Amino acid sequence: MPNFVDTSPPGQCIFCRLVAREIPAAIVHEDELTITFMDIGQVNPGHMLVATRRHAANLFELTEEEAGAVMRTSRRMALAAQAAFPSAGLTLLQANGAAGGQTVGHFHIHVVPRHEGDGIELTWPRK
Ligand code: C5P
Repeated sequence: MPNFVDTSPPGQCIFCRLVAREIPAAIVHEDELTITFMDIGQVNPGHMLVATRRHAANLFELTEEEAGAVMRTSRRMALAAQAAFPSAGLTLLQANGAAGGQTVGHFHIHVVPRHEGDGIELTWPRK
């Protein structure tokens, strides 16, 4: 199946609507530039998405400030996951464009807690 990126315009894309509280989400953190929520398709317990509040389609559209902010937030969420799952490792994943495996065209980083032998195959594009 060809990969598909939801390219809805700013304000109408699923993550913009989530930022605006127009659709429900389990939001775990917000600050001036970023929002973090639980991924609805959890590949492992604690799988979060760190997204920009502003509609930036992908890494190519981030400002320097947003680039720093999303990595700072990802680190904070990684530390929180580590506290919740003390023996866990963690994988960060970030996709850009259909060719890069992206499906939602609003910048986000996957923060995925990992455990020895969890058997997850993080193929990209996702199957
Ligand atoms: O990296 P990619 O663009 O494929 O990831 C999109 C992610 O957004 C998926 O893991 C999907 O489960 C998640 N999603 C979500 N809430 C929605 C729609 C999609 O967490 N309402």
